[in-house]
Amino acid sequence: MEMFADHPGILNLKKQAEALFDDQLQNWDLAKANYRSLQKVVTKHLPFSGQAEIRVQYNPERIYSTSAKVDPKSVSERPCFLCPVFLPQKQKAVPFKHDYLVLVNPFPIFPRHLTIPYKDHIPQQLSGRFSDMLDLARALDDFVVFYNGPRCGASAPDHFHFQAGIKGFMPIDDDFEKPLKVLLGEQNGSKIWSLENYLRHILVFSSPDPQWLEEKLSHAVRVLSEFDKGHDEPMMNVLASWNDDHWRIFLFPRKAHRPWQFFAEGPQQILLSPAAVDMGGVLIIPRQEDFDKLNLQSSQDIFSQVTLEAEHWEQLKSALLKSFYDGS
Ligand SMILES: [Zn+2]
Repeated sequence: MEMFADHPGILNLKKQAEALFDDQLQNWDLAKANYRSLQKVVTKHLPFSGQAEIRVQYNPERIYSTSAKVDPKSVSERPCFLCPVFLPQKQKAVPFKHDYLVLVNPFPIFPRHLTIPYKDHIPQQLSGRFSDMLDLARALDDFVVFYNGPRCGASAPDHFHFQAGIKGFMPIDDDFEKPLKVLLGEQNGSKIWSLENYLRHILVFSSPDPQWLEEKLSHAVRVLSEFDKGHDEPMMNVLASWNDDHWRIFLFPRKAHRPWQFFAEGPQQILLSPAAVDMGGVLIIPRQEDFDKLNLQSSQDIFSQVTLEAEHWEQLKSALLKSFYDGS
């Protein structure tokens, strides 16, 4: 790995990331080949509710990430692929805030896909790093920045990292504009909605105020921690983007890492390990046979296994609704 730019400020980050893509797609054979094959990737569309859809992407290069062993023993026995010393020689990096490296993801899902690891080998946990996520989303305003919890799809649960994918790729970017959302509360132009009848449970936070967002997200995380005791962080995926002078945060509260189909054998097996992009509406399938058999019914079944259970979902919404009245 070598540094591509030496200006860790966030003002030029977008331009530097664009230049990084151009350079890596020209000079790094692995990235060049994988972004080229992404153009030929097959996608199918599964419409539901009349106005929303799930997309299914058949992407064989993602087999490693989908089937990654993330138990502590397996993780401790492999070299960490996000530590700077183990990054490929051809990989170049743009610094962000002296603390993170912005990298081109050589195994893309998005036509533009970044991986943004922290400089040191510290565990995946969002607490204390949410403001970095907001700064990244604002600086990279043509991207959606995302976070996979250590038990919700992060293939390196031992090394803190964000990812970012170009906007407009996940159905949720557009579906959010449709009348599927229910307003939970509003405060000085900052709002929280829930998405209903959308196969999985989602809270949406919108605000120009980073402190307000941090408070409300922390509140939601505290409520979720009550349902999921004994862990440093409740199970969740988070997306952040900057739109019309507001941040938009999607929170996907989870109750399971992988559906039973992942562990099944024979014809019932479907290798699908839902992470932020899948929760955002693009199911990533590395095997042809799974791509062929996945339909709306099985997708719905898989979402229902990994999204927060109904009772806890209602409790989470009530807690946030209440926070608008008692100022908590
Ligand atoms: Zn590491």
